[in-house]
Amino acid sequence: PVEVTASPLRDGAVVLGAVVVFRDVTQRREVDRLKNEFVSVISHELRTPLTSIRGSLGLLAGGAAGPISDQARRMVTIALGSSERLTRLINDILEVERMEAGAAPIELADHDVRTVLAAAVDQVQGLADADGVSVRLGDVTGRVHADADRVVQTLINLLGNAIKFSARGSQVVVAARPAGEFVEFRVVDHGRGIPPDRLEMIFGRFEQVDSSDAREKGGTGLGLAISRSIVERHGGRIWAQSTPGEGSTFFMTLPRVDEEATTTASPTGAD
Ligand code: ADP
Repeated sequence: PVEVTASPLRDGAVVLGAVVVFRDVTQRREVDRLKNEFVSVISHELRTPLTSIRGSLGLLAGGAAGPISDQARRMVTIALGSSERLTRLINDILEVERMEAGAAPIELADHDVRTVLAAAVDQVQGLADADGVSVRLGDVTGRVHADADRVVQTLINLLGNAIKFSARGSQVVVAARPAGEFVEFRVVDHGRGIPPDRLEMIFGRFEQVDSSDAREKGGTGLGLAISRSIVERHGGRIWAQSTPGEGSTFFMTLPRVDEEATTTASPTGAD
């Protein structure tokens, strides 16, 4: 395969010619493919032993191997927490590979936005309660043509982040409204916010604003990368706005179902 880029050569408003660059990307693509394959094989191979480690630690902590001292229990609990984090990381790596390779199937259907949002809010309620943050549905209208499970997964990620990076007593609002051919979702928080030069970067793999975010908030830095590939596979967009110290808003657009078209006969249908 060859990548071609072209740009005009100008003298003021006069176009003198063009520069065309042909670049052979065969080797780069092959390296990318091998790298992705390597990562996914390794991740698969790690999953099985990790499952057994978690199982054994769980049994130990539960006293299945006999009573253990408080100190031993604390150590086992730390090991269990770390192995759970590692499992999340491996699952996220496999997920981002699958999404970006287009290997994860997307099942499109028409869905009421309210149903999808309610399912996502339900799933994060436990986390919100634990963190003392309330989650509220704002104005919600519209229908989307999308993979409901994938959309719920993306919303859970956005809501989870909004909760994680908010202080106790804070409120998170999620809303959706039709915007042209799309439905625009927004997740608004009043948390710590994101510096302007990080607003785009955080959608990259393993990107976190603070190096302590992984440890303290249990994240992997892959959630937004997964969310972006899900949204892009739907032909939508995802982006963030923020005022540091005041909060952040995450936006996402997904193809809208034209309600007129679904309730009236198609114009070419009757003859
Ligand atoms: P994770 O949450 O697992 O670390 P994400 O890809 O979902 O990974 O997010 C990447 C980083 O972006 C987070 O670690 C955090 O630094 C920043 N971030 C995401 N959402 C928010 C938010 N609502 N408020 C503040 N920072 C955020």
